[in-house]
Amino acid sequence: MALSAPATVRTHCPYCALQCGMTLGPAASGYAAAGDPTFGVNAGDLCMKGFSSAEMLGHPDRLLQPMIRRNGVLEPASWDEALDAAAGGFARIARERGHDAIATFGSGALTNEKAYALGKFARLAFGTANFDYNGRFCMSSAAAAANRAFGLDRGMPFPLAWMGEADVLLLAGGNPLDTMPPLERYLTKQRAHGQSIVVDPRRTAFAASASLHLQAAPGTDTILAYALLHVLIAERLIDTAYIAARTTGFLDVRRNAELEYPERAEKRTGVPADDIRAAARMLAKAKRAIVLTGRGVEQHSNGTDSASAYINLALALGLPGRDGSGYGTLTGQGNGQGGREHGQKSDQLPGYSTLDDPRAVERVARVWNVAPERLTRRGMTAAEILEAIGTQIHGLFVMGSNPVVSAPRSAQLRTKLATIEHLVVCDFFPSETVAYAHVVLPSLQWAEECGTMTNLEGRVLLRERMAEPPEGPRGDLAILAALAERLGVPALIAPDAEAVFDELRAATAGSRADYSGVTYARLRGGDVLHWPVPAVDHPGTPVLFAESFPTADGRARFVAVASHLDSEYCTAEYPWTLTTGRNREHYLSGTQTRRTARLNAAVREPVAEVHPALAERFGIVDGGYMRITSRRGSVDVRARLSDAIRPETIFAPFHWGGTSTVNDVVGGSLDPISKMPPFKACAVRIESVPAPAPPIA
Ligand code: SF4
Repeated sequence: MALSAPATVRTHCPYCALQCGMTLGPAASGYAAAGDPTFGVNAGDLCMKGFSSAEMLGHPDRLLQPMIRRNGVLEPASWDEALDAAAGGFARIARERGHDAIATFGSGALTNEKAYALGKFARLAFGTANFDYNGRFCMSSAAAAANRAFGLDRGMPFPLAWMGEADVLLLAGGNPLDTMPPLERYLTKQRAHGQSIVVDPRRTAFAASASLHLQAAPGTDTILAYALLHVLIAERLIDTAYIAARTTGFLDVRRNAELEYPERAEKRTGVPADDIRAAARMLAKAKRAIVLTGRGVEQHSNGTDSASAYINLALALGLPGRDGSGYGTLTGQGNGQGGREHGQKSDQLPGYSTLDDPRAVERVARVWNVAPERLTRRGMTAAEILEAIGTQIHGLFVMGSNPVVSAPRSAQLRTKLATIEHLVVCDFFPSETVAYAHVVLPSLQWAEECGTMTNLEGRVLLRERMAEPPEGPRGDLAILAALAERLGVPALIAPDAEAVFDELRAATAGSRADYSGVTYARLRGGDVLHWPVPAVDHPGTPVLFAESFPTADGRARFVAVASHLDSEYCTAEYPWTLTTGRNREHYLSGTQTRRTARLNAAVREPVAEVHPALAERFGIVDGGYMRITSRRGSVDVRARLSDAIRPETIFAPFHWGGTSTVNDVVGGSLDPISKMPPFKACAVRIESVPAPAPPIA
């Protein structure tokens, strides 16, 4: 492989939604990544994942050749053989069982162009209503809550820089020092002059350094947010002028909040009533205040309501749309924002358009040159698709995702994938999901092809092709185009990213996430563009909601959510709460970071955090092994004793597969609105177990 000129080029990190600017240049071992000081978001900082990302480009595990399963074994095949087998299997299932027996499963790591093309492919090449992506497990509750309150979901409706300026910053359910370390420069700046409140069942380094740590039990966010609002109302600290002029629905929320007085909330959340009062007063006194939520709030069976409860709090304080203030959510995956905007899920069309908007349906149908009726079917969501394998779903097309590690009820999923009729996986590494595929289509990595990403601020970024790919893999767009052709829809997908982006621009013109004014030429010329960008001479919209909200009446909506706990927490058989999350060293299902020598050396296995008092009851020792068992199954992990976690809560990271698959344990009811599985609160029992036997050499 060789870099195209110039030798060192600017790009963006392939991992999380911060999309840190980095430079990629030649090194003795292949490539080296470094922080790009000219990119304002990270100003030269990178976390250890970003620094080591270039190692992936020349990695020996790279999938270089298509494969077909023959007699139970994946064997190398030519591209024509593999594409014929992939398309042939889906065509047969559509013929014999109907088009809805096929599903696609996309990713928040895909570029905007790929996410758009995959949705188009699912609707028009597969003709299925069943397509979704792994972002359903990440951002769906936050997105649902923002859409119903503001009429629009852009994770950060204001620039990241505002975080550094805020007088008070409340972050509930996030640990950015581990998940997005370059954010530290904003947080340090903020703490130098302001106050911070962290809501987290763990006393992370971030929580420990906050002005106030509210160590709430997992799943109690609606109660805590209502209690904060109770104090604001009781002490006449709400922004009545803002509520009257810019919102609807406050009275019902007020009635609920009045019931949730701090002493009552203390009993259910574990947060001292005095701390609740102190936090509410802190927020109310601030001229510039920001309320942020993360997955700790959102990944619950009531995650949409939990996020809405914090939005209610922000609205009562008059924050959304106020200069220097606001409500936002920290998006996780690299293109978690763009990936949820452009139609790779069946409940939505490109540009964040809804299926019940006839003008949007007609616009997209016109761009795609099809009848509008072909675009309006809503199918199953991610967890439902995986659950339906073997009953309603018999063919599955996975692009850039590893659900065998990242999905709930993973053990059940492995059983289902072992007998599915047809599984086709596009990936660049042999992930745990690839191991079950009937056809494997090796794809390119981020530096080897061109495409746009949208960061957590809604800023559209162009990642140029800068490394020559190895012989063998193909780009995802080319793979979709070739499959569509074999399925009888030639020319459905342009294999060139810029051509797909131009089509996306037309399909989103006039929509909520309007990209029509974004062009590759503008991005190459250095324009900083946050959507919506409705014209090629429009400067973009870094700040939303200053004048009005994109709702029918221009007002934001309070939502009177129920204040309750998930009943699963409270049984005698499963008395403890497992909450899952991430390590600083690894990224999501670990397909890449577990292959990175330095990251893997730093953390090789999941280590569960458990309070010493709880551990002692079960004879669990520091560094020993413990079994975590839920209604779904068990996993054995090493234990680390720590008094930084609540005594009834166990934390475990989920980056590993095989016998270390923490998501074997996770499951339960989906959020009724977002269909989010409850990754952050799972009722479990625990016991001490011997260390697993070492593998036989
Ligand atoms: Fe990459 Fe995210 Fe780390 Fe930045 S914070 S270097 S985008 S993984």
